[in-house]
Amino acid sequence: ELQFSSAVEVLMNYYPHVKKAIGGSEKIFEYVDRSPEIPPDGTLAPQKLNGNVEFQNVTFSYPKRPDTAILKGLSLQLKPGQMTALVGPSGGGKSTCVNLLERFYQPEQGCILLDGEPLLSYKDQYLHQKISVVCQEPKLFARSLKENIKYGKEDATDEDMIQAAKSAYAHDFITKLQDGYDTDAGAKGDRVSGGQKQRIAIARALIGKPKILVLDDATSSLDTKSEECVFEALAEMRKKQQCSVLLIAHRLSAVEKADHIVFLQDGEVKEEGTHDQLVQIEEGLYAEFVKKQNTAIHRNAGEGTICEEQ
Ligand code: ATP
Repeated sequence: ELQFSSAVEVLMNYYPHVKKAIGGSEKIFEYVDRSPEIPPDGTLAPQKLNGNVEFQNVTFSYPKRPDTAILKGLSLQLKPGQMTALVGPSGGGKSTCVNLLERFYQPEQGCILLDGEPLLSYKDQYLHQKISVVCQEPKLFARSLKENIKYGKEDATDEDMIQAAKSAYAHDFITKLQDGYDTDAGAKGDRVSGGQKQRIAIARALIGKPKILVLDDATSSLDTKSEECVFEALAEMRKKQQCSVLLIAHRLSAVEKADHIVFLQDGEVKEEGTHDQLVQIEEGLYAEFVKKQNTAIHRNAGEGTICEEQ
């Protein structure tokens, strides 16, 4: 990467007209600069994985801004069967934790352990199977919903697919569509709402039975009622499969469902505990976050939540 980059740089210096001719080259450099290093593949691929994740004293800054520490001695634990929520102001480092968990970048100090072994010692492909990340704006393929859910897990049965869709609270709306699971997400793309797309993406993540599920703002397009139903369904799956869930969300309705809440600000854990514990901290950061959201909750009060039978 370095060689390629320097070779082209030399070209650029000596032949300005070449630079002009390949307009947009800056964009390529921007991309090359940003792309993180690919670590050597590990060897571990144990048959049984519990899904215990531990960030131990992790300090990290992005290669592009080496002087700005984004995570400063962060320690965090994800436990099987539990949902841990990361909350805090924008820029606090929540998504950066996900980037590190996905091994896009390496901690500068400290380490990330999976079942007690460094994340780097596991095989890439193995980790891809075991860690599933759903982001805020998932993309659907112009294929049937069935193919979208089974993507990457083509050997899954229809029963597996339905189970995954149920755990993502997607089964009910899919079966109400005229073509059900055969609905073409391409042709009917405009009829699949943002919230429905997010649920299909969660189902796609669940079909591989990950041991670690990361929801990075992955339910943000759902109304509070549907979101609650998703979390209810996910809770069942989480207990059954003993999956560790890392939730990043801005809405209290999602966060308060977590077993453990970590308030992250400026790359540091400022507070952690359960919702009930954290709201009791006088002038606490989480308590303040809850207060701010109360108005919105009051506005929705009385609507109640009735999840459809799936
Ligand atoms: P939000 O709630 O807005 O998603 P966050 O808590 O997830 O925020 P991060 O996305 O982890 O925060 O960002 C933390 C800091 O890292 C921010 O200052 C951001 O600008 C910076 N950052 C994120 N990605 C990169 C990158 N690829 N290169 C350089 N800096 C980055």
